[in-house]
Amino acid sequence: APGAHVSALVIGTGYGGAVAALRLAQAGVDVHMIEMGMAWDTPGSDGKIFCNTREPDYRSYWLRTRTKAPLNYFLGFPIDRDIPRHTGVLDAEEFGGITVYQGRGVGGGSLVNGGMAVTPKRENFGSVLPSVNADEMYNVYYPRANAGLGVATIDPAWFDTTPYYQYGRVGRKHAQRSGFPFVFVPDVYDWDYMKQEEAGTVTKSALAGEILYGNNHGKKTLQKTYLARAKATGRVTISPLHKVTSVAPASGGRYTVTIEQIDTTGNVTTTKTVTADRVFFAAGSVGTSKLLVRLKATGVLPSLNGEVGKGWGDNGNVMCGRANHLWDPTGSLQSAIPCCGIDNWAAGGAFAEVAPLPTGIETFASFYLSITRNPNRAQFSWNAAAGKVELNWQTAWKQPSIAMAKTIFDKINSKEGTIYRTDLFGVYKIWGDHLTYHPLGGAVLNKATDNYGRLHGYPGLYVIDGSLIPGNTTVNPFVTITALAERNIEQIIATDL
Ligand code: FAD
Repeated sequence: APGAHVSALVIGTGYGGAVAALRLAQAGVDVHMIEMGMAWDTPGSDGKIFCNTREPDYRSYWLRTRTKAPLNYFLGFPIDRDIPRHTGVLDAEEFGGITVYQGRGVGGGSLVNGGMAVTPKRENFGSVLPSVNADEMYNVYYPRANAGLGVATIDPAWFDTTPYYQYGRVGRKHAQRSGFPFVFVPDVYDWDYMKQEEAGTVTKSALAGEILYGNNHGKKTLQKTYLARAKATGRVTISPLHKVTSVAPASGGRYTVTIEQIDTTGNVTTTKTVTADRVFFAAGSVGTSKLLVRLKATGVLPSLNGEVGKGWGDNGNVMCGRANHLWDPTGSLQSAIPCCGIDNWAAGGAFAEVAPLPTGIETFASFYLSITRNPNRAQFSWNAAAGKVELNWQTAWKQPSIAMAKTIFDKINSKEGTIYRTDLFGVYKIWGDHLTYHPLGGAVLNKATDNYGRLHGYPGLYVIDGSLIPGNTTVNPFVTITALAERNIEQIIATDL
């Protein structure tokens, strides 16, 4: 209700927000979560909540009239198509030099991501979060996050036999023949459910190409894990299709939060204000950074420090495909959930996941998303004339990532006598260097905040999402985001409440 007061207000329902809500509620605090995306709990006229990658419809994209598929070409032809403008689940947010993909809805990125749940190698942790005690993370918070998320690894015997991971086995063979370590990558997809999909006893999801625009079954999204437990406490309420636009100091050490309610075409229907004792920014790296940079620059939160908006990285994401020989098919049947990768981090600065191309036909393509040690960092800033926050990332800043990915794929190509695909990202374009799935940073831990996410200058304001992490996690990021949130909220509950 307008003018209402809440104890803890959480902006966003992704990993950081879900951890904060659960732990605060368990500590006896009433929590209100504000989420700009939809609830994603009601099927459409086809009986499904989410649409398929092969048939993107109004549910696919966040307020666009045309799809913007990460792999935007197939056999050299553009594949994007017109769609009705709707508050769909995947946001392809365009900045000057990069498109940043993000999930929109209750569950945040967990709705759209591949579910790959990777804990960084211990020896790399110092580069991920230099101010955090690694012993505590590896003894307590990473195990807690993995348990809370329901992380598990594929049964290797099933991997060896199912037609749906033919592409993974080809990836393994090529990695090993070139001398690279091949690794299974844990995931939050329910592997038993996937086996039943193959057996035909349950409705197919991963095995029917569901990914990117949501999985209707099988994937343990935050809706099924942290958020379900948070709601079960009875202390957590969630308002979907509500967007926070301002957080301003109010009397008594409280904050006034301004919230716009939107309809499914994105139009604002009502503007509300509530007061909150504490506000947790969990709007994701981009969402939190945009809010904080604007609120500082426009004088609403002028005491935020100069680190706000800085230290943003793309986790070194770069994509490519390889063209295999005709005797090396990757399969017309492909599980949409990746389960394995190639680890050349120590020697070449690249960790490549063997990714699916679930087109339904044989493509003879091996497709990879590489995470690389790209050192470039960008900054968000307020453009007063345009009235928006901009990001100064440049496409050319992906060149180090391409060089690192080439340490793997040039060698495999030369060993196998194969070449790069040039038809997946344009006409004669090898590298998918225009995008990231892994935005990180913008309110870096121990810089924009203290070492537990408390924003400098404003007691009661916290950051608890991917914006705390300075640009790279060496692997896929959500386990680290979850574990760091578990660490920080435990400290905040113990000392601030
Ligand atoms: P998010 O999960 O992004 O949640 C932020 C939430 O806040 C969103 O729901 C958003 O709608 C909401 N929000 C934003 N602004 C506002 C506002 N002003 N008011 C109200 N609500 C707001 N990571 C992995 O580890 N493994 C993978 O396999 C993997 N695959 C991926 C595949 C894709 C296609 C994408 C897009 C991402 C993938 N990721 C993967 C990345 C992972 O999903 C993100 O790192 C993670 O979701 C970030 O968590 P977060 O808590 O920082 O924010």
